[in-house]
Amino acid sequence: MRKYEDTYQHKGLRKQLINVLKEKGITDENVLNAINTIPRHYFLDSAFDKIAYEDRAFPIGEGQTISQPYTVAYQSQLLQIKKSDKVLEIGTGSVYQSTVLAEMGSWVYTIERQKKLYDLQQKEFYFRKKYPNIKFFFGDGFEGLPTYAPFDKIIITAAAPFIPPKLLQQMKVGALMIIPVDEGDQQRMLRLTKLEDGSVKEEAFEQFSFVPMLTGKNR
Ligand code: SAH
Repeated sequence: MRKYEDTYQHKGLRKQLINVLKEKGITDENVLNAINTIPRHYFLDSAFDKIAYEDRAFPIGEGQTISQPYTVAYQSQLLQIKKSDKVLEIGTGSVYQSTVLAEMGSWVYTIERQKKLYDLQQKEFYFRKKYPNIKFFFGDGFEGLPTYAPFDKIIITAAAPFIPPKLLQQMKVGALMIIPVDEGDQQRMLRLTKLEDGSVKEEAFEQFSFVPMLTGKNR
């Protein structure tokens, strides 16, 4: 069961979370404002109500997780979101990351490969109504969305075994891709920039731990 009630206590806990994120090095005011605005507990079972604002990941079913707020903030900050950016997200999961990007004013195209999670996402009236700038797709993120390409930004929210070549093709010149790429049991956060000659600049950041990016759809 979910509870859609945002109390003063929830708002207070969110403020504390913002301070934690600042202490950990998040500086992008738009990212911090979005996280301060969005009731994260709406994305979790009410059993998690009191702990929804701890800086940790939680299970959302089908062996998947809602990413840790620090991870969401970190990836969102690296994306350098501008209003009206066209963003492709791989791994919709709880839809929390998608709403952070939508709250920042971008157009989000998000793909989920697990049918059960995709079906749940269709039933969640809260963000479906509030964020008409999120479009949902059931499919395999390795394929991207060729019909909606090219994108300004691409974010992968699962551990990628390699950089998917089809996603590179779906980037505009100057576009950024934030992708955690496997290095054993952890992943290195990479930021790729598509250059004018079609080549890609690569920057490496901190290590994280994501659930795996898997091929194919799961009905
Ligand atoms: N952004 C999510 C994180 C969810 S965890 C959130 O904020 O909650 C990663 C998600 O990626 C899972 O839901 C998983 O099913 C999905 N996933 C894994 N491989 C995928 C692929 N190839 N295509 C699309 N989604 C994928």
